[in-house]
Amino acid sequence: MENKFNINNLVRENVKTMKPYSSARDEFENFDTADMIFLDANENPFENGVNRYPDPQQVTVKSVLAQQNGVDKNQILLGNGSDEVLDLLFRAFCEPKKDNVITLPPTYGMYGVLANLNAIENREILLSEDFQPQLEVIMKAVDKNTKMIFLCSPNNPTGNSFSEESVQYLLDNFNGLVVIDEAYIDFSDKASWIQKINTYPNLIITQTLSKAYGLAGIRLGICYASAAIIGVLNKIKPPYNVNELTQQRALDRLANPIKIKEEINSIIEQREQLLKVLNEVNFVSKIYPTEANFILIKVDNANQRYDELIAKGIVIRNRTRQPLCENTLRLTIGTEEENKKLMAALKTLN
Ligand SMILES: *Cc1c(COP(=O)(O)O)cnc(C)c1O
Repeated sequence: MENKFNINNLVRENVKTMKPYSSARDEFENFDTADMIFLDANENPFENGVNRYPDPQQVTVKSVLAQQNGVDKNQILLGNGSDEVLDLLFRAFCEPKKDNVITLPPTYGMYGVLANLNAIENREILLSEDFQPQLEVIMKAVDKNTKMIFLCSPNNPTGNSFSEESVQYLLDNFNGLVVIDEAYIDFSDKASWIQKINTYPNLIITQTLSKAYGLAGIRLGICYASAAIIGVLNKIKPPYNVNELTQQRALDRLANPIKIKEEINSIIEQREQLLKVLNEVNFVSKIYPTEANFILIKVDNANQRYDELIAKGIVIRNRTRQPLCENTLRLTIGTEEENKKLMAALKTLN
């Protein structure tokens, strides 16, 4: 399949032929040079820490990510959250009103929203009862205009990850782009697919600093893929899509991997505590296996239990309207303190 795959066949015609916006800071890249005078970007010259435009290529942040993940800097694109990264994928590869993508509900809602926004048909193929991709049904839905398949693994809201064989199968047999959203990978024992971007020219991984890294507020999403794919995305991304404050906070945080690991371990430990208690709650009829920082449970009456918890000051996510998720609730793992309150509240409900 590698010889059949050609990224140029997937790129939209207008993207192929467009000339990217060239910013002042693109034209003069060594802008760290301390003794230069910068009169090129119409900035206010009085220093306050953020009076200059940020590095459009976020070189420092990418260097750290490249080193920590064993990839090259040119295999990374950063966005204003993974939501921007996902939107760029649609805009780079999907021709409005012509192309289609495949998503596997129940899953993250943004894929469908972005498909709609970009006027791209979203072919929804339900996961199986045990929340795995139905490979044959998926391949039947593929046609010559199918550009991307979105795999969220570990999946939101179900919490499980997809089997290695399934992912492998799609990478081998689907001639478009396989996007694996690894927003929750740090809570799983499974390895990331990042290392495979050198093997599969059609593999795209998205990650985020919003979950395990504790930086939802700064909005930093990450895309790992071949240099060819990253090159296309770079061409169309807004020049200054990752602001200076975000880059600084990301760097501070990435410099402290031990702290991050401690927080992840604590969340996983709390998850195991909560799982034990949920086993003893009589209105919980099913606890789905989880490799994420949340637990999906099936209850007797999701709307009722949701309201009861709200009345006790605890906000969870009601997923009852999602396909295959009737009467399910999604609980995010909080601090030990917060989880104690949740567990106490669950025990008082009957
Ligand atoms: C939370 C989440 C994200 C994160 O999106 P950001 O825009 O980076 O905050 C991405 N994918 C999934 C499946 C998520 O649940």
